[in-house]
Amino acid sequence: MAMPPAQTPAPPPPASTPPPTSTEHADTPRRRDYTPQVRSLVRTALFFGLLAAAAHWAWHQPFMAQPRAMYELARLPAPATLAMPVEGVAAREVADTYGAPRGSDRRHEGVDIFAARGTPVVSATRGVVTSVRESGLGGRQVWVLGPGRQRHYYAHLDDWAEGLASGDLVWPGDMLGTVGNTGNARGTPPHLHYGVYADGGAYDPLPLLRAGAREAAEPTR
Ligand SMILES: [Zn+2]
Repeated sequence: MAMPPAQTPAPPPPASTPPPTSTEHADTPRRRDYTPQVRSLVRTALFFGLLAAAAHWAWHQPFMAQPRAMYELARLPAPATLAMPVEGVAAREVADTYGAPRGSDRRHEGVDIFAARGTPVVSATRGVVTSVRESGLGGRQVWVLGPGRQRHYYAHLDDWAEGLASGDLVWPGDMLGTVGNTGNARGTPPHLHYGVYADGGAYDPLPLLRAGAREAAEPTR
């Protein structure tokens, strides 16, 4: 069947005609195109989202364990109880010698916990080992940064726990070394000198050791 000739298409609008969007609502203001701002906002949100995810991932990697522990320890309150740092010794066996004169110009800034040479010395708190060294009065010693940014001092050690190093994370009961009489304890019976230093200086750890022993005796609550 013969088709009628196609109709001639409508002529294009004259060049002077503005686009339909503005002609249809000529009396309303032109709507702003927000697409570039939205795109930019999405890009920014995506960037910070990825950054946060990367930071979160890194923060939980093993190599960040030490900074993470430092951060957590700094936020924790100072301990109300302490674990006995020498194995097999009861808190009631520890003499109250904190503040006793030592020579003419010093006072005893801790407690002495006597035990046989070689008895394990363990951490009284959770913490980060900040120093493993031999020097001065303390002889072979370990420093641990514990909860509430308090510093725990374990001195006169016969030896350090194998492989113990600065930066190690420890928990109560983790071995730091063994009882000895190095430093100015040479010639005295082997003992651990244990001291705790808060922001205001040393304080007597014995009440907290006794509280720790009471707590350990009544584990069910
Ligand atoms: Zn001492």
